[in-house]
Amino acid sequence: MRRRVWATGPDDQPVHIDQLDPIKDKGLDCGCKCEDCGKQLIAYLNGSKEPHFGHQRDSTCTSKGEKSVHLMAKQIICEAKQLKIPVTDDFHQIVTFDYVEAEYAVHGKRIDVFATQGRNRYFIEIWCEHKTEDDKIRHLKQYGIRLLEIRIDPKLYDADFETLRRHVLFDPGNREWLEVDQEFKDVEQLDCQGTSLPSPQPISWKWIVGIGVAAIAAPMVCRWLTKPSSIRSYNRQSWLQFL
Ligand SMILES: [Zn+2]
Repeated sequence: MRRRVWATGPDDQPVHIDQLDPIKDKGLDCGCKCEDCGKQLIAYLNGSKEPHFGHQRDSTCTSKGEKSVHLMAKQIICEAKQLKIPVTDDFHQIVTFDYVEAEYAVHGKRIDVFATQGRNRYFIEIWCEHKTEDDKIRHLKQYGIRLLEIRIDPKLYDADFETLRRHVLFDPGNREWLEVDQEFKDVEQLDCQGTSLPSPQPISWKWIVGIGVAAIAAPMVCRWLTKPSSIRSYNRQSWLQFL
């Protein structure tokens, strides 16, 4: 069993075992708890094994801190405001965001991280315990939204913070644009760098023609209407002479 290095701290934020003081925070004094069962955890900081958290003896909880890793991954992106994004199968680009928000609600779904760079929008999912459901991918596809999924390698659940940080932000091998079928792939190749905001619509040629016709016809109709009604009524056959 891998050692557990993440827990929820007294301030409800994720805490890595390396952040604890070996003297002050050992045992139950760490004030950390399990985000799954809510029970207090013991910080083993000075034993023969590498430092780790553990449940108390009577616990049946099997959590290894996956939820804390998931939460930490979201915080890492929000704080860094940048991410390596796949552009093609073998080319990635580091994008620096100008806006980032965790737990973003869109069209009835909750996205782990929403970010923007200029007109590009990014909807990012973190696969820590569960892969993103196909229903969610299909639902958001209807609105022109595609998801970028970053998978946290379970082997790194017990890694140090900096290793996890690099894995979340810059590992090119653990992220992909989600697709549920070929149709989705075809549609979403519109923009490899995210979902663009709607562009201002250019003026349609129909509008230009319509405005031109109206500009020519309006004075002609006015001139005809301002002629004496007797002329209009008796010379209806030759009304064009007044145009
Ligand atoms: Zn637990």
